[in-house]
Amino acid sequence: MKTKEQLHKITLTRGLKPLPKISVRKWADTYRQLSSGISAEPGRWKTSRTPYAAEPMEAVTQHGIHRIVLKWCAQAAKSEIMNNIIGRFAHVDPCVIMMIQPTIEMANDFSKMRITNMIKDTKVLTPLFFDLKDSAKTRDSNQTILSKVFPGGRLIFCGANSPAGLASRPVRILLCDEVDRFPRSASTEGDPIDIASKRMSTFWNNLMVMCSTPTIEGESRIDIEYITGTQEEWRHRCPNCGEYHTLHYKQMISDYQEVKDESGHKVIVVKSVLWRCPDCGRSFDELTIKNAPQKYVALNPEAAQNGIRSFYVNGFSSPWLTWSGIMREWLEAQGRPEREQVVINTRFGLSYQLAGAFADEIQFLSRCEEYGAELPDGVLLLTAAVDVQDNRLEYEICGWSESEECYGIIRGVITGQPDNSYVWRKLDEALDRKYHLQNGTPLKVVRTFIDSGGHFTSEVYKYCRDGIYKQRIAIKGQGGAGVPLVSKVTLLKEGIPLQLLGVNEGKQQVFSRLGIKKVGAQYFHFPKDDEYLGLRGYDQIYFKQLIAEHKVTHKSGGQIYSMWEPVSKHARNESLDLRVYNLAVFKSCKPHIDWRLLKESLTGEKTPEVEKTASAPKAALKSKKYAHSKSVDIWS
Ligand SMILES: [Zn+2]
Repeated sequence: MKTKEQLHKITLTRGLKPLPKISVRKWADTYRQLSSGISAEPGRWKTSRTPYAAEPMEAVTQHGIHRIVLKWCAQAAKSEIMNNIIGRFAHVDPCVIMMIQPTIEMANDFSKMRITNMIKDTKVLTPLFFDLKDSAKTRDSNQTILSKVFPGGRLIFCGANSPAGLASRPVRILLCDEVDRFPRSASTEGDPIDIASKRMSTFWNNLMVMCSTPTIEGESRIDIEYITGTQEEWRHRCPNCGEYHTLHYKQMISDYQEVKDESGHKVIVVKSVLWRCPDCGRSFDELTIKNAPQKYVALNPEAAQNGIRSFYVNGFSSPWLTWSGIMREWLEAQGRPEREQVVINTRFGLSYQLAGAFADEIQFLSRCEEYGAELPDGVLLLTAAVDVQDNRLEYEICGWSESEECYGIIRGVITGQPDNSYVWRKLDEALDRKYHLQNGTPLKVVRTFIDSGGHFTSEVYKYCRDGIYKQRIAIKGQGGAGVPLVSKVTLLKEGIPLQLLGVNEGKQQVFSRLGIKKVGAQYFHFPKDDEYLGLRGYDQIYFKQLIAEHKVTHKSGGQIYSMWEPVSKHARNESLDLRVYNLAVFKSCKPHIDWRLLKESLTGEKTPEVEKTASAPKAALKSKKYAHSKSVDIWS
């Protein structure tokens, strides 16, 4: 461990021989070592390996530039660039540097994994920091995981979720990593980046670097920051026409085969991928394009006058990703919005455009199918949802497969004021009856969520208390962003559970699934009226209500978030609510189900006896506890 005197000596020596203030790029090429076990390619840093990293690293010390934005795919060396900036300033231009990670845990990990190793392996940095091993033993206050002192400066790590560290001393260099994963607000203090950036105002030569893979269009912070900057796209020159192009997935032509693996899952085998030049139409392979001349092209160069340069790089230019690997991921994700989003964000470096805001309901009406039975094949579980209005109950029963393929079964309206016991008796008739698969196997609704938020809360509670053994559960919707669909369970005075639901999240999921066009996992099936159940209720009014909301982006305190809101003031949306509740019922049951057992009992060669199979779903439920609640035991 170094003493204060030794530190002073180092400072003094450096003071006598000032180091040239070289650029981050030059510094990294001269001094930086990549650690084994952390880097894909340990050893000396070579900017030539990731040529798109050169310009952003030069921009760090460019006169008049105060903000650098990297909207990059994953695995393009973003973190290493952050490290190079830290190393360069600690070494040749010491000052206070702060790095913010999305959470304090991630800040801890980044410091322990990446920074400690860089200090250890980059020889010019090692003597500047205390011996890290010794300091751990002696708990030296100058050297902790989240704060490291070096001569003339300090390196501080913070979590965007933890306001405590964000607003203390002045900072000259602020590095914000994965900003799209930052919480909207650091506790009640406000936007974490706003808080931290206030600390930079005292320095004329301050610099903020923000980087992230983007998330959802309209709410992606890195997208918005990127647009305010120079918008420099990394482009490759077409060997035929000489034009420079950003490599876009829509220009990739994949030759591939679709096969099934041992467990029956779809696997894509990509044989080759070619990029087709949108200018001349000629196609080229990966090696040719990766070896072609490359450069940034700025779409908004004027922003440099405001001190903001922004850079975009996607996975097709990364030396660590292959085109065939990226296209395989993309092709395998098709039809599954969650996976498509991951590929679009992390490989294409683009924000994901959510489905939703459907133009009209006709497309869904024309999608209605003949089920050929009360329940179509594929249904393994029935859920139900009830919406309580002042003059009626509305309900929907849905069938589900293991892969969350959802089948609307029936959607009904029971007219009458909910303080009249008649309407609840009629509801029991719909919920207690058996619905039959084509092979005659009957199924019953395993659980029902009933909205308690209207004017008849006590009637709903009473109905749920009386029907608790039939899994009739009162629910209450919670607004706001970020509340999970199946949120907490609280116990009411009457000793019955009240399930809280994150309705915004639920609507998001329903709209995503409505956007799925390919039959399979998470697809929504809708039935035609038939001789089995008569009017099933999936008419034009149903679909009009189902798509009666759209996503509205709000801005508050520099933060952007989106909420689902009615398209018009008087638009009814009961169909949408019912589908959200049904999805929540399914999600609350799913972890407790033994699908294999359930499938066997419903589709086994011998049709089991009626009474036995009627309770099959219950038998296949693994847990006797109500999901998410330790105190409520209502599986019986
Ligand atoms: Zn061309």
